Amino acid sequence: MMRQYELVDRVRRYNPQADEVALNRAYVYAMKAHGAQKRASGDPYFSHPLEVAAILTDMKVDDATIVAAVLHDTIEDTDSTREEIDKLFGSDIGRLVDGLTKLKKLDLVSKRAAQAENFRKLLLAVVEDVRVLLVKLADRLHNMRTLHFVAPDKRARIAEETLDIYAPLAGRMGMQRMRDELDDLAFRHLMPDAYTMIAARLDDLHRKNGKIIVTIEKELTSELAARGINAKVAGRQKQPYSVWRKMERKSIAFEQLSDIFGFRVIVEEVDDCYRVVGVVHTKWAVVPGRFKDYISTPKENDYQSIHTTVVGPGRQRAELQVRTVVMHDIARNGIAAHALYKEGVIKGKESLTNESRSYQWLRRTVALLAEGATPEEFLEHTKLELFHDQVFCFTPNGRLIALPRGATPVDFAYAVHTDVGHSAVGAKINGRHAPLLSELQNGDEVEIARAEGQTPPAVWEGLVMTGKARLAIRRATRDALRAQYAALGRQIVTRAFERAGKTFAEDKLKSALPRLARTTIEDVLAAVGRGEMFSGDAVRAVYPEFMEERKPIVPRARGEAGWFGMKKAASLVFKIPGSGKPNQNSIPIHGSHGDLPVRFAPNGGAVPGDRIVGILTPGEGITIYPIQSPDLIAFDEEPERWLDVRWDIEESRHELFPARLLITAINEPGTLGTVATVIGDHAANIDNIVIKPLSADFREMTIDVEVNDLKHLNTIISRLRARPVVSKVERVNG
Ligand code: MN
Repeated sequence: MMRQYELVDRVRRYNPQADEVALNRAYVYAMKAHGAQKRASGDPYFSHPLEVAAILTDMKVDDATIVAAVLHDTIEDTDSTREEIDKLFGSDIGRLVDGLTKLKKLDLVSKRAAQAENFRKLLLAVVEDVRVLLVKLADRLHNMRTLHFVAPDKRARIAEETLDIYAPLAGRMGMQRMRDELDDLAFRHLMPDAYTMIAARLDDLHRKNGKIIVTIEKELTSELAARGINAKVAGRQKQPYSVWRKMERKSIAFEQLSDIFGFRVIVEEVDDCYRVVGVVHTKWAVVPGRFKDYISTPKENDYQSIHTTVVGPGRQRAELQVRTVVMHDIARNGIAAHALYKEGVIKGKESLTNESRSYQWLRRTVALLAEGATPEEFLEHTKLELFHDQVFCFTPNGRLIALPRGATPVDFAYAVHTDVGHSAVGAKINGRHAPLLSELQNGDEVEIARAEGQTPPAVWEGLVMTGKARLAIRRATRDALRAQYAALGRQIVTRAFERAGKTFAEDKLKSALPRLARTTIEDVLAAVGRGEMFSGDAVRAVYPEFMEERKPIVPRARGEAGWFGMKKAASLVFKIPGSGKPNQNSIPIHGSHGDLPVRFAPNGGAVPGDRIVGILTPGEGITIYPIQSPDLIAFDEEPERWLDVRWDIEESRHELFPARLLITAINEPGTLGTVATVIGDHAANIDNIVIKPLSADFREMTIDVEVNDLKHLNTIISRLRARPVVSKVERVNG
């Protein structure tokens, strides 16, 4: 196990200003915290964070990252707390360790390789600081190096996750060396047979070609030296995993792989790279189509090199990579190496000025370096802002769902499946009941409770974040409304057929659809229900000979059938004689002033049970309004006219009070009778009726009634609503 002074030495070797006190304190703190804990290997647990720190010292990262590496498992695995870490090491370190704790919770939750890309995004959304990722990758590397101690079933899952998630992430960050080792270790565990086979073949090749490799190395080195180019030439062999991938990808046999071995030429200056290529291309035959210049056009992760393939001695193909020292380090250590090249930026500017395209933080990294920030400051300021506009959540069986920030369980449900969204009635987030419209956080596991036959509330449309959910809710709401109209239309059409002495049947209507210019029966029914089509037209479409007999529009006495055969659009206003109007002088109101006359609001009156207000009109008297009457807005600017009044009812007097109802009803004989009967049956008076045609099938009735009180009125309203001919009842001013 690494000693305390060794850790400090390792860091100070590349960073003389390192915070020695913090490093020592972290060492002692983590050692005590992990205490007697053991790893699967039987080693003291504390050896693990130390090894992780050691891996990072090889990458020459800043001391805060090293301290975080030493502490990285304390919050999750020991009694340590974030507060304690903050207090002892400062909130910067605290944040890093906290970030690592969050990432640890995500270990092994991803179950499908297809989600790997999303999972990488999730990792990036959770971490706010690139240093957290560096520690995480070093942590994973050490765990992979010691994977053979872990139980076999768990081993495979860890190896798979490494191959799917962490190795490619290291690659994206330009850390090729880390990526190669992670790939190699994972491959070895997942496919031991394939690994052994390829490794043996590579060894075999190496033995056979060892001589050629040495020959080429020597020839090329002296050839370049003769032209004054100081270059380091090294033969290199492909990694077993990359050979395997190539075999898989191109479905070719091992023998067909042409570029099994290659060379790396490392020079001082960028100019030298192109001169090396000139020498190589003159000396050996070039394989066409294999020349790639990643110096003038770097890869997304800032990788730079020139690649070319030649036919070398013994007709053996060899791939060459030509690059500068700076490029080489960046190719191996990626983001971690950027920190070290403040000098390099100035010296080999071309190597870092090309913008990286996929990752903003790399771009800003470069900008920061160009601005002359010190290497120590650099990593600290490389805050990740990737994917922070997204949240990533899991279904109970581990499927990863990516949503925009602010998304709710309703969005989640619709993202899983439209049916799940429609039937969602409740949600559990991380096992706890939560409102369906609460905001989801990264890594939340969301379970949706469902009930079939639901229609999503229309109000959700304005509260969800995703377009998919919004569209689905709008559609469902529209469909539900349409179904209601169709049901109403079916009643109307059925009655219209009966009036014509026929029986309604869907198949009869079906053959008549073209005549009605509709495509489905539901279209027809919904159109009738909505008032867009006259029910008689549907009857005539089936029985063209049928002509509905229309009665002339003549007002008749109340309670009599026949009001609804009207053809012409006309408004009818009439008074019903003999109704018992309440005596204005005896309106039982408390708080009225002296002998001022009192009357009820002209539009809709007021009844006991309403909260009321009096409006004083000088010279006329007091008008009583229900407090919710929209007419009161007219008096907003005149507070002096508002009077506090209240009801003063004598139960025994059975007085009647005015109220106005607005009714939408189906236009057919007997409708008015039905409405009048309901009102009459409840011992209320009808004072006035105005009837307006809305469409061929609907009439709107404004009815002034007189009732005892609010309860009486509400009873009448609900009884009216219960009648099939009535489609809507509202109180005016109420
Ligand atoms: Mn760890």
